[in-house]
Amino acid sequence: MKKNYAIAIDGPAASGKSTAAKAVAKRLSFLYIDTGAMYRAFTLWMIENGRDPRSEADAVSLIPGFEMEEDKEGRVFLSGRDVTERVRENDVSRLVSYACAHKAVRERMVEIQREMASRQSVVMDGRDIGTVVLPQADLKVFQVASVEARARRRFLENQKKGIPGTLEEIAEDIERRDYIDSHREHSPLMQAEDAVLLDTSEMTVAQEVDAILKLFLEKVGETWNDMEQ
Ligand code: C5P
Repeated sequence: MKKNYAIAIDGPAASGKSTAAKAVAKRLSFLYIDTGAMYRAFTLWMIENGRDPRSEADAVSLIPGFEMEEDKEGRVFLSGRDVTERVRENDVSRLVSYACAHKAVRERMVEIQREMASRQSVVMDGRDIGTVVLPQADLKVFQVASVEARARRRFLENQKKGIPGTLEEIAEDIERRDYIDSHREHSPLMQAEDAVLLDTSEMTVAQEVDAILKLFLEKVGETWNDMEQ
């Protein structure tokens, strides 16, 4: 039977994970799964239903009606509606770290994520992929970059998309989310013991992608070549 491969890419906010992960997935013909987008969609679902993302009871009550999908291009749909750009807006970014910290929310998302990875080869990015979601992943990367480099990248990205916010505001949001994500009780952001640390502060996207592909081929080289034949 053909093996399904999994590459797990974790790291703090705006460390360039999704851009690199998407490109790696494309090169290998794997499915790219943006788990942050799932938590963002759930946060938007809470906002739209007038609930408080900090409240565990509010979050739990909305899990059963939560329907989201991600297509192959990484577009995000909430109950069939395209919310790809909407979930990147500041109100969602400000609240997502609260909504995603509830145990029941994480359990539901992990269930969906594992199910997706059981059906095909994937590149999945997030905070807890190597530690919790896919502990058996063929390659685990923990991607970091300085706050300055991350804020600068996100600022340019937002400018292109027309999302408002100064460089200082973005840096503040990144630091605040890193803190909450690393200090929460359930599945905090941390490097898996067997993850490779990749500091991308001084790297271009192309260099990041090459580095991850090289690591992957080093890890699974032989089986990968067998599969390709
Ligand atoms: O990756 P992105 O920055 O879009 O993720 C948004 C937020 O979702 C993160 O700040 C984090 O709070 C949460 N998240 C998480 N676990 C994941 C992916 C994202 O807790 N696997």
